[in-house]
Amino acid sequence: MFVPVLTACLAAAPHDCAPRLLPAGAGADMAACRTAGESAAAAWLAAHPGLTGRGWTCAPLDAAPALALIEIAPGVLVSRGADEPLSPANRGRIANLGVVIGERQVAVIDPGGTREQGEALLAAIRARTGLPIGPVILTHMHPDHIAGAEVFAEAGGEVIADARLPAALARRRAAWMETIPAQIGASAWAGTALIDPARTVADETVIELGGTALTLTPVPAAHTDTDLTVRDSRSGTLFTGDLVFRGLTPVVDASLSGWLAWLAAPAADTAHVVPGHGPVAASLVAATADEGRYLAALRDAVRAALDTGQGLSGAVPAIMAAMAPLAPGWADFEATTARNAAAAWAEMEWE
Ligand SMILES: [Zn+2]
Repeated sequence: MFVPVLTACLAAAPHDCAPRLLPAGAGADMAACRTAGESAAAAWLAAHPGLTGRGWTCAPLDAAPALALIEIAPGVLVSRGADEPLSPANRGRIANLGVVIGERQVAVIDPGGTREQGEALLAAIRARTGLPIGPVILTHMHPDHIAGAEVFAEAGGEVIADARLPAALARRRAAWMETIPAQIGASAWAGTALIDPARTVADETVIELGGTALTLTPVPAAHTDTDLTVRDSRSGTLFTGDLVFRGLTPVVDASLSGWLAWLAAPAADTAHVVPGHGPVAASLVAATADEGRYLAALRDAVRAALDTGQGLSGAVPAIMAAMAPLAPGWADFEATTARNAAAAWAEMEWE
């Protein structure tokens, strides 16, 4: 498969350019790609303000820069993110991304933190299989997981998310479009859009891939209020999104009590657990042991601080002191824990 490759330059920095793959103009051979490329490039540029085009060419998609994929079970692949906060060095590639190859179609579980990463995931998939891209599932609203979705939609995939996601994304999209390029660099973010899903699910939903099926399970407010898990029936792999952090400090963006309730619920039968951040584990118990300790300690520290009757600003040093023994093994512990303390405080203040 050949795709148009557009040289897209930042309007604000015309020498800052990046190659953008345009699967909407893909063709079976070079000639078909050349026929479709001009209109595909014009249409894409018109839909992505802030960029100017500096020519395009056609190239085989399976030869484009590709993410490394680890096969954790037959047909189940994971791209491991850097277990650290967003930075110019990691270019937004911090989340784990999943791929399940069925007999009829390929599913993607979290399409990446930028357009650039989504393109590299698509190239990695195409280097392994020519099967159609089917469901592109967003485990929750955070951009480090979902900002690569648009290139998969252009490649024919159906972007699917929790029913609560469109409204939640609408509230924060504009802010994220400003803050994330500031954190990772404007060129790493070039051409990235935070698109809405084509389909949403409010209840447990099974999607057949041929030879295996994915079960999508929406979860009440926990890490965010848009979380869902994805379980692959053939391999017994559970993709938890950010309901499980390993190595990178958990971020409480919706409900600490809801998250602890999810952790306490009976675990699904799993052979592999793919967390949102950190290494793959063999069981949910193993995957969540450290996170469970962290979140329970946060709850206890905030409750103890609330019991003293002082305000949040006065309580933060005591909360941080109570949490400090847990710091080893967690990246970005101080900054994230300070934010989590404020979030948990707001949640627990009225309990
Ligand atoms: Zn997240």
